[in-house]
Amino acid sequence: RKKDFDVVIVGAGPAGLAAGYVLAKAKVNVAIIERGTFPGSKNVMGGIFYRKALDDLMPDFYKEAPLERHIIEQKLWLISEDSVFSTGIRSEKFNKEPYNCFSVFRAKFDKWFAQKVQEAGALIINETVVKDPIVENGKVVGVRTDRPDGDLYCDCVIAADGVNSFLAKSLGLREKITPNKVAIAVKEIIGLPENVINDRFGVSNDSEGVTIEITGPYFEGMESMGFIYTNKNSVSIGVGTIIEDIIEHKVNPNDLLEKFKTHPAIAPLIAGGETKEYLAHMIPEGGYYAVPKLYTDGFMVTGDAAMLVNSVHREGSNLAIESGKLAARTYLEAREKGDFSAKSLSAYQTKMEESFVLKDLKMYRNLPHLLEEKRYLLTKYPQLIIDSMYNIYNVDGVSKPDKIKAIKERLKKDFGYWNLAKDMFTLWRKLG
Ligand code: FAD
Repeated sequence: RKKDFDVVIVGAGPAGLAAGYVLAKAKVNVAIIERGTFPGSKNVMGGIFYRKALDDLMPDFYKEAPLERHIIEQKLWLISEDSVFSTGIRSEKFNKEPYNCFSVFRAKFDKWFAQKVQEAGALIINETVVKDPIVENGKVVGVRTDRPDGDLYCDCVIAADGVNSFLAKSLGLREKITPNKVAIAVKEIIGLPENVINDRFGVSNDSEGVTIEITGPYFEGMESMGFIYTNKNSVSIGVGTIIEDIIEHKVNPNDLLEKFKTHPAIAPLIAGGETKEYLAHMIPEGGYYAVPKLYTDGFMVTGDAAMLVNSVHREGSNLAIESGKLAARTYLEAREKGDFSAKSLSAYQTKMEESFVLKDLKMYRNLPHLLEEKRYLLTKYPQLIIDSMYNIYNVDGVSKPDKIKAIKERLKKDFGYWNLAKDMFTLWRKLG
């Protein structure tokens, strides 16, 4: 049988490009098939890009990559209709090179990354859709594309085809997506002058940035997370919600975002801005238990295609890069042995289990189930925190001891001390 490439990678997002970069640098004959007109053209992210995973491959990449602002402050807001409880971290340590993370536009960033991968020697074939894996004697030996004579044969296929991964599904590695494991996120990019952004978000110049992650009783028990990120001369604002909740609450994600934009603490941040772009995309949020087996004969699956998203920390692109890198390294080891069987590629699973990717997801493995079971964790507790803080700060003639007493009474009435202790213990056990 003919062999067109050593490795075919499907998808030129962070996972596929990282795998392609490692392989091309090792002089492997590698092709990356991308359905978009160029890498990034179809890709959506909040988006905060973390430096570390890519810096390990391409030291100091951030000095030349098209990035927006480096993030010096990350906030978490719990919101109700009329109030905000705010927490977070701002540090000058985040304001020093080589920085921690950056706001990015994926259309620009992926295009730049792809250029680097091409320069390293990989072939990127755009505007081509992979339709099927080619399987012979139970082993993946290539892919069928939508081009005439578009069958491509290789030693190994790396799937980096994103959340819908048709490839992983057709090989039986992944089940059909269920609405409780995937969120739909809608996002707008709102243009504002740089100095207005600097003033509103409290930064001193157009390279410093801020992120705000937003949840709480405002979302009426839906597993929703809003976000606002500063770019150079725009702000990215969006809301992601588990699809099951969208169906159950009969809400339209666009209406949810429109309403979110009118919240009294959010509206002033975007006032006078002009919508430049509107995007929607799915996010795999099933966590550790939704991650499939990562390999089979002649095949490995990476990034969103393997459901590798840590939604608690809004990390996805770095998990994608790490998995692409580890899949590529596994291929290089397999090539030494001339063995691309499932047994040989199982080293990828081991590498992933030893990496931060699966360790982090494992730590939060019970969270999706816990939130499904105990919806009040998203509503009643945050509401209690917001109301308690309001009462303590509201000077109304009531003494502080009486305020504390009222909070304790509400705790007892709404939850009961025993239930509170049980919830705290469950959270500690399931997250610890
Ligand atoms: P993708 O980036 O989805 O790339 C898949 C590629 O495969 C695409 O280029 C696609 O066109 C191509 N493709 C798909 N099917 C085929 C096919 N059949 N043939 C050929 N090509 C194909 N992560 C963060 O780290 N920080 C954030 O702030 C963040 N915010 C997010 C906000 C939103 C709204 C969303 C939706 C996601 C966010 N994520 C964030 C997650 C992050 O975007 C993903 O985890 C990351 O993009 C996964 O990379 P990937 O390479 O696996 O997949």
